[in-house]
Order: sequence, then structure tokens, then C-alpha cells
Amino acid sequence: MQVYEAPLRDMKFVLHELHNDDGFGNLEALAEFTPDLVDAVLEEAAKVAQEVLLPLNRSGDIEGCTLENGVVRTPAGFKEAYEMFREGGWCALASDPEWGGQGLPEALNKLTEEMICSSNLSFSLYPGLTHGATTAIEGYASDALKQAYLPKMVEGTWSGTMCLTEPHCGTDLGMLRTKAVPQGDDSYKISGAKIFISAGEHDLTENIIHLVLARLPDAPEGVKGISLFLVPKYLPKEDGTPGPSNGVSVAAIEHKMGLKASATCQLNFDESTGWLVGTAGKGMEAMFKMMNTERVSVGIQGLGVGEAAYQSAVWYAKDRLQGRSLSGVKNPKGPADPIIVHPDVRRMLMTARAYNEGSRAIGGWVSRALDAEKHSTDPAVKARAEDFIALMTPVVKALFTDCAYESANLAVQVYGGHGYIAESGVEQYVRDARIAMIYEGTNGIQALDLVGRKMPAHAGRYLRSFFHPVSDFIEANKADATFGKMIEGLEKAFGALQLSTGTIAQKGMKDPEEAGAAATDYLRLLGLVAMGYCFAKAALIAKARLDEGAEDAAFYTAKIATARFFFDRLLPQATAAFLAIKSGKASMMALEVEMF
Ligand SMILES: Cc1cc2nc3c(=O)[nH]c(=O)nc-3n(C[C@H](O)[C@H](O)[C@H](O)COP(=O)(O)OP(=O)(O)OC[C@H]3O[C@@H](n4cnc5c(N)ncnc54)[C@H](O)[C@@H]3O)c2cc1C
Repeated sequence: MQVYEAPLRDMKFVLHELHNDDGFGNLEALAEFTPDLVDAVLEEAAKVAQEVLLPLNRSGDIEGCTLENGVVRTPAGFKEAYEMFREGGWCALASDPEWGGQGLPEALNKLTEEMICSSNLSFSLYPGLTHGATTAIEGYASDALKQAYLPKMVEGTWSGTMCLTEPHCGTDLGMLRTKAVPQGDDSYKISGAKIFISAGEHDLTENIIHLVLARLPDAPEGVKGISLFLVPKYLPKEDGTPGPSNGVSVAAIEHKMGLKASATCQLNFDESTGWLVGTAGKGMEAMFKMMNTERVSVGIQGLGVGEAAYQSAVWYAKDRLQGRSLSGVKNPKGPADPIIVHPDVRRMLMTARAYNEGSRAIGGWVSRALDAEKHSTDPAVKARAEDFIALMTPVVKALFTDCAYESANLAVQVYGGHGYIAESGVEQYVRDARIAMIYEGTNGIQALDLVGRKMPAHAGRYLRSFFHPVSDFIEANKADATFGKMIEGLEKAFGALQLSTGTIAQKGMKDPEEAGAAATDYLRLLGLVAMGYCFAKAALIAKARLDEGAEDAAFYTAKIATARFFFDRLLPQATAAFLAIKSGKASMMALEVEMF
């Protein structure tokens, strides 16, 4: 059974307690968002997630989207839910008030995103992609395009897409073939085929605004020749309402492993009218604005699914009676004890719990940096926030989604055979979580971005935005009477990360394949250190609250226990990652291609 209750207590901990000393807070521009207001928004979002979106999760998975006579229909209930969502202002949460948005802090917005993804990942893509598209338009489009499109997109009556992928090119966008021919005015005719386009066609909004990567006739080969265009499904009339069709058609919808209620479309652009977003030939720069926003959001998608899977597993583990506890009968009136008594079931539940709480903690930290980047009036804080976001974006995307897939898999294992049967609802989480490791740049590509671009950038400056707070924290707390040993563990993992950084920088300079071979392990190692840092901080805060006699002692006690589990059982992966990195590329690349 899919059960989900938004983890509001942990979300409030992350928002109000965990990161207060990170130097990204106290933003004048966000002063109106008092803790009471923020909590009220979280509580309302939880209701929407639990009461409106969750009931459509399994039915949407079973029914999927359909294509008939060029029209894509979302599953029953989606249209009504979207309308309720839109009217409630949920599409406009984080957007700029200039365009009708509510300008909410990202630190709050990302938590509402998590709830939406937990309750219905497929649904989340429709408003999610629209928000991503608005960030690229806001950052790079002309004023005329902004005026014509942003208000409708922000209010959610028009939706957005990102059209990059073509049949022969996904990761390597330099090969894309979609053409853009200038028309002598400021418009272009766009022609080409795109595949795998999320929300490419559907019945939720009046119009769909595609952001399309295409190539001008005289463009050089490779990514330098790519430009970004805004191409509406319907061309707006003078009065701004949708007018004639613009030559965008759906060739097919993809039949896929999961995410069934999200319409993934093959789109044909047939001399569709489009307008340049940003500068000709610099389309990737504008698209990266959207992609970076989306990469953090995809990390949050992972966390959302991981949390939902964990909660369903906990529910089942308390309900399912099998065997007796090794430490003596716990349910004497029943024929057996609930499986939650068994250490191996605890291992699975605690692993998922720690990954979820660890990801949420890192997500909260990065979100505060996103707010500081946008609103801080202190140039030094802004610059540090930018560095930190650049470093952590691939980590959030890949670490959270890897962990979420593991958590969803563990949830199926907790259900045993019943987990493999569709009726249980948990196998859907595995299928849904899987895509987040692939789209928006595969996790392997995220790792290469971390090692190849982010690590060496400005002689390691991005890395320092993370290394400095971690090393200061270790120095300040390693003698702590209660958690000293835990922090020693963090110090060791951090040492391994520093050594690995040096090794990769040195070897990678001479042989880029060495950096490529180390990338995935390095991202995991950095992610584990980030989680360790957050858990150690959380444990110190929790203990202080308990010492003060905090009311919700159970929450803080559980936080300390989860932190201890992370250090005992999950942080040791750091040693394995370190050893793998140290071993280099030799055994990985030893076989000749024909030997496979
Ligand atoms: C459900 C779904 C929704 C999607 N939504 C969208 C969307 O809205 N818009 C859009 O434009 N696209 C979308 N995509 C496409 C998605 O972003 C791509 O599938 C993804 O980026 C990978 O590209 P590819 O499938 O062509 O794989 P490939 O690029 O062929 O990669 C195959 C494998 O090779 C690895 N690889 C490739 N190049 C390298 C390299 N240089 N170094 C190391 N490893 C490498 C990859 O990591 C991967 O493991 C979607 C895909 C799916 C399945």
C-alpha cells in the first residue's frame, strides 16, 4: 500500500534549525517569510500532496497517458488535480513576483517539491518543467517574449518543456540536427524531430511552450553552433490568447518502465515559428540555466520517491507478521512478531531513512545557497553561494537519485514477494525512481561534471566553498564529549576526500581517463562526507535541544540514532570509494573492446 504523510517535523528541523550558521541566512528580501508563514505553507502543501496527488499516483501508473488522433490525454483525475493545484497558486510558488509569482524562498519551495514528488512523481513533471522553462526565459529572453509568455506560464495556464534530445543524440548534444532558418524579421522556422520530451503534449494547459535547441544554417559544428528557441504549440493572438497551431505534432508517446502518467513524447517541428532565447550560438548557456534548476529538482524528485518508498516500507514492516524476534517474543498474542523486529529489516529501513534525512539536509543547505545567490546584498556571500551551488548541483542530482533508487529497492525487499506484486504499490517506486538517475544528464555525466569541470574550476575555489565549513566544523567539534568519535569518522572520510581530490587532479592532468574512471566514486565520496557533516551537525543540535528539555524529545532522540546509524553503517562506504579511486583506471580499461 502506498502510504505517505509529509515528514513535516524533519522538514521544519532542516528549515529552522540545521543550517542557521551557514552564512546564507538572514536575507532582508525574504524577511516577510516568517517561520510561522513558512510552516503554514508547508502544512498546506502537505494537504495537497496527501489528499489530491497521492490518490492519483497508482491509478495514474496503471492507466498511463494515451495518444489518440494527435491528442495526448493524461490519466483520469489529472486534469482536475492540475486545475486545483494551479488555482491554489502552487505553480507560481517560487517564481518572481514581477511575473505573478509568489517569490517564496527556495529553501521552502524545494520542500514543497519534495512532497509533490513523494505523492505523485509523474504529476510533478508538468509544473516542474514549466518552472524550469521560466527560469531560462527570465534569464535570457527578450522583454517582448518575457511579457508575452511568463505571466501565463507562471500562473500555470501555459506549460513549458525542454526539447534537447534527438534520436541520435542525448548526452552529446553537439550532434543535434534540428534546424532554425531566419525569416528576415525576428522569427525563425524550426524543423526537426525530438524524442523523449516530457510533457511535450498533454491536456492540462491551454498552450505548451517548447524551449528547443536547434542549429542555424551557418552554425559551426558541435555545441558552439547550437541556439535556443521559444516555440509555442499555438501562436498567441494579438490579445495574448492561443491562436493558430504552430506545426508542432506528436509522433508517439513513449511506453516506458515507470513515470507512466507523465507524457513522454516524440515531437515533430515542421517549420514551426520560434524566437531566439539569448544569443545565437549560445543556446547551451541559456539551456544550462534551465538544466541546472532542473538538476537540483531531479535530485529532489529522487528524495521524494525515496521518502514515499521508505514510509510504505515502515507501514508494512509494522503490519506484516513473520517469525519471532531474536531477543524474545514481542507480540505474544499474535501468531508471529511484526517483521520490524528483525535486525535485517531494520538495516533496510534505517538505510532508507538515513539516505532520506541526509539528502533532505543537504538539499536544505543548497536551497539556502540558492536563496543567498538570488537575494544576498553581500557580494562575498553571493559569490560563495554561487560557488557552492555550482559544486553541489551534480552531487544533489546524482547522490539523491542513486540513494532514492536504493531506498525504493529496499522497500520492495521489506515487502518480500508482495513487493514484487503490482498491487503492493511499492514496485512503482522502483520504476519511477529509476528515471531520475538517467534524465537531465545521467548520473555518470554528473560525476564527470563534478570531476572535470567543478573540481578544477578557479584552482579549486568551488571545492573550498564546501571544504572550509566541513574542516572548520571538524576542528571545532572533534573533542566533543558525546560525538567526538562520530566526528573523528567524519574527519577520516574528509581526509580520504582531500587525498582523492589531489590524486584525481594529479593523475587526471596527465591522463583524462584517470579522472573519468574515478568520477562516480568521487561523487559518492563527496556526497557521503556532505551527509556525514549534516548528520554530525544535526546530532549536536539534537543533543542540545534534549539537554534544554525540548518537548519533542522523540524526534531529537531519533535524529541522534539515525546519525549514529549513518556513521556506523553507511559512512564506511567512503573507504571503499577511496580505495576504488586509488586503484585508478588500469583494471577498468584493461580489456580490448573485442574482448567484451
Ligand atoms: C522518461 C524520459 C524523459 C525525458 N525527458 C526529456 C525531456 O523532457 N527533454 C529532453 O530533451 N530529453 C529528455 N529525456 C532524455 C534524457 O535526458 C536522455 O535520455 C539522457 O540525457 C541520456 O541520453 P541518451 O538516452 O541518449 O543516452 P546516451 O547519451 O546514449 O548515453 C548512454 C550511456 O552512455 C553514457 N555516456 C554517454 N556519453 C558519455 C561520456 N562522454 N562519458 C561517459 N559516459 C557517457 C551515459 O552516461 C549512459 O550511461 C528523457 C528521457 C526519458 C527516458
